[in-house]
Amino acid sequence: MPDRCDVLIVGGGPAGSSCAARLWAAGLDVVVVDKCRFPRDKSCAGWITPPVLEHLRIDPREHEQGRVLQPIKGFSVCRLGGPMVETDYGTVVSYGIRRCEFDTYLLHRSHARLRLGAPLKTLERVGRAWLINGELEAPMVVGAGGHFCPVARHLGARTSGDRTVVAAQETEFKLSREQARICRVRPEVPELFFCEDLQGYGWCVRKGEYLNVGMGREDSTRLSDHLRAFVETLQSQNRIPKDIPTRFQGHAYTLYGHAPRELLGDGLLLVGDAAGLAAAYSGEGIRAAVESGLLAAESILSAGGNYEREALASYLKSLIDRFGPPESSDGWIAHIPTRIKLAVAGPLFASAWFTRRIVLDRWFLARN
Ligand SMILES: Cc1cc2nc3c(=O)[nH]c(=O)nc-3n(C[C@H](O)[C@H](O)[C@H](O)COP(=O)(O)OP(=O)(O)OC[C@H]3O[C@@H](n4cnc5c(N)ncnc54)[C@H](O)[C@@H]3O)c2cc1C
Repeated sequence: MPDRCDVLIVGGGPAGSSCAARLWAAGLDVVVVDKCRFPRDKSCAGWITPPVLEHLRIDPREHEQGRVLQPIKGFSVCRLGGPMVETDYGTVVSYGIRRCEFDTYLLHRSHARLRLGAPLKTLERVGRAWLINGELEAPMVVGAGGHFCPVARHLGARTSGDRTVVAAQETEFKLSREQARICRVRPEVPELFFCEDLQGYGWCVRKGEYLNVGMGREDSTRLSDHLRAFVETLQSQNRIPKDIPTRFQGHAYTLYGHAPRELLGDGLLLVGDAAGLAAAYSGEGIRAAVESGLLAAESILSAGGNYEREALASYLKSLIDRFGPPESSDGWIAHIPTRIKLAVAGPLFASAWFTRRIVLDRWFLARN
């Protein structure tokens, strides 16, 4: 006889664990399966905005006990080759975390039953339930397995050969005492470097004793070349040490509205990167993962045990209420022809008004 639970969640990242925690708190029997054992790493800069902690009711003072929680009070922004413009908010506007710590903390505090090191291999419809790997049965399955989530594929998502994805790579490492002395990136002021063709940006995020350097681009061709040139530029300017690890971890994900996926099926629902919800300009995906996980939990609870597709439709409405219609995710800037954007980008990225009001307040911090 297969084991049974009320809701099975595939993927124990921020989307899956947030959903699991809310369902467990409402009294449901929840199992999270993840192909990795935790602590596991996830390629990510580890930048989060304060609403992530607020939604999860995490007290920063508690979280920083034994874990990295780097307060961020400003950003330095430039277009590669142009001047660096620093914005100081004088207060905490973001945090730096390490995914190996943060995700493990969220998963364990969800109280869900965990099956780790257990990839989802098969998903079969048996009556009104789903049978997973031939050994676990649930009437409701949440796909929280990231961009390549097998539940998303089951619902028809294309996960390869898709030119609408963001491809991103990063390396995160502990700075030696000598590297820490040399590194000019300040922990409270991460640095963002927009590519000249505006197809993405590179970053340096220093958090506690760690430095994360990476780049994400919507045009994934030659990402490694762009990244190599970016790192060499930083090193030639003595911003980062010359002896950083040369191995970069990469992953893909989709920005909200850029490649909409089918998010619902009978007894099936997608959250986080599996649903393609990351913010259009910044690529912030952790907040959308957490928020969609919580919204999904509310829709599952209000469905009251009837998990037919129509009974779960409130989830789609709550996503639109929260993130707006997918087709408008890029806002008015999407309507400006690329040649005009490229022509004005230099002066705009050199302006304190544009970097603060548009790049940071609007795109990265979603403050207005
Ligand atoms: C290089 C890079 C940098 C980024 N930087 C930032 C940043 O600084 N801030 C930010 O907000 N966002 C960032 N993002 C985006 C962010 O990482 C994602 O949006 C976020 O992790 C989505 O969370 P999730 O829970 O949906 O998926 P994930 O965090 O990807 O978790 C999915 C989980 O599913 C598991 N899984 C996958 N397949 C299976 C399977 N077959 N069976 C069982 N389990 C499976 C995985 O092991 C994983 O634990 C970055 C992305 C990249 C690639």
